[in-house]
Amino acid sequence: MTLTDDQIHDALSSILERRDPDGSATVLGAGSDDLDVGLRYLEALVGGGWMVPTWPVEHGGRGATDDEARRISAALGAYESADLYPYGVGISLVGPVLRDRGTPEQQDRWLRPIADGSEIWCQMFSEPDAGSDLANVGTKAVRDGDGWVLAGSKVWTSRGAYSKWGMCLARTDPDVPKHRGLTMFAVDMHDQGIEVRPLVQVNGDRHFTEVFVSEVRVPDTDRIGDLGGGWGITIETLAHERASLGGRAFGGSDEDERAVPAWLAGLEASGRLADAVARDRAMRAYVLDRVNRFSTARSAALAKNGVPGPEGSVAKLCSVAAFKVRAYLVKDLSGAAGMLDGSPGHLAFLTAPSMSIRGGTDEVQRNIVGERVLGLPPEPRVDKDVPYSELKKRC
Ligand SMILES: Cc1cc2nc3c(=O)[nH]c(=O)nc-3n(C[C@H](O)[C@H](O)[C@H](O)COP(=O)(O)OP(=O)(O)OC[C@H]3O[C@@H](n4cnc5c(N)ncnc54)[C@H](O)[C@@H]3O)c2cc1C
Repeated sequence: MTLTDDQIHDALSSILERRDPDGSATVLGAGSDDLDVGLRYLEALVGGGWMVPTWPVEHGGRGATDDEARRISAALGAYESADLYPYGVGISLVGPVLRDRGTPEQQDRWLRPIADGSEIWCQMFSEPDAGSDLANVGTKAVRDGDGWVLAGSKVWTSRGAYSKWGMCLARTDPDVPKHRGLTMFAVDMHDQGIEVRPLVQVNGDRHFTEVFVSEVRVPDTDRIGDLGGGWGITIETLAHERASLGGRAFGGSDEDERAVPAWLAGLEASGRLADAVARDRAMRAYVLDRVNRFSTARSAALAKNGVPGPEGSVAKLCSVAAFKVRAYLVKDLSGAAGMLDGSPGHLAFLTAPSMSIRGGTDEVQRNIVGERVLGLPPEPRVDKDVPYSELKKRC
């Protein structure tokens, strides 16, 4: 039975507190290593399937239609929430991919612990020689009886410090062109062959890591998707990531119905918007934020079977631009006090540069928009048809 908005609010208000509309939103992935708050929030929601409504009931959802799920998501914005950054890869990236590509056994095993927060996932894609050129991944997976032995190293692995599972892209066939010889695996981050080393970010985050994979055995049942199908799964995962980054840059569905958002009203109340140039910048941030919301909604509407298309790159670009303009404006208007650690907007200011890199750089998003949305001629790719084993590599 499809729920009305009133029924959704009745149910949510019995488990969550109403949100203060003037409260500040969280900053994506910054200072949010408090796992307990998010865990308690997910535990409260999982009984009604509110966090992942479209997933089946047995996997922590409620079998909702897309329309119902959108209304639930909008309704959740009216209640106190936790910063779910630590749980984001599982909920927004791995979960949807498993729903579409996982075996029934994998779905039974992994989806519910993602929905209730008991198992955290990280994304092990990037390597020292494979960032924008992600298909250049060199981590090897070699067949060994009914499983695989993985060896290599990953870098920029967010949430690596506390993850139970890693979604790991590895090369299973070096003798075919680079995009074709890749396969996706779920790697147990507690395996003794996994070494996770912290990379402390300028904003203080400590969950960011490099991961060394030394002869880690992975059963074939933990292969996600087809052998050699890793690139397709990568593209899908990144599309989910860009769509979720596009929609959540300000930490949730805040201020939707308000003519003037709380952060802007706060600056006005303090008298800091008296200067015409500051007002101009504030309006730019405001307009970019609105454009971001429309772009995100359009990209969600164009998604096919729940899988976002390349339009998600437009949403990501808009959201990054909006985040940066706002963060830098708040910082500039704080004057000398803004130089202090812990001053308003400080965390957002220190996090802002990374927004143009994580989930694929701005330049790469523009390439995607140019080629796959606008249909412009593609970049020359001289190595596209050359076997990976014959490509020049750094020694
Ligand atoms: C905060 C943060 C979190 C991250 N989390 C994760 C994670 O959890 N898992 C994960 O796997 N990775 C993660 N990453 C890695 C991220 O995806 C990569 O850093 C990103 O894709 C860029 O790769 P690179 O750093 O190797 O830079 P490079 O690919 O070496 O790029 C260097 C510069 O060259 C430009 N460039 C490269 N190719 C092109 C091109 N074809 N056209 C135009 N310009 C180009 C880039 O835009 C960039 O400015 C994270 C990164 C950050 C900053």
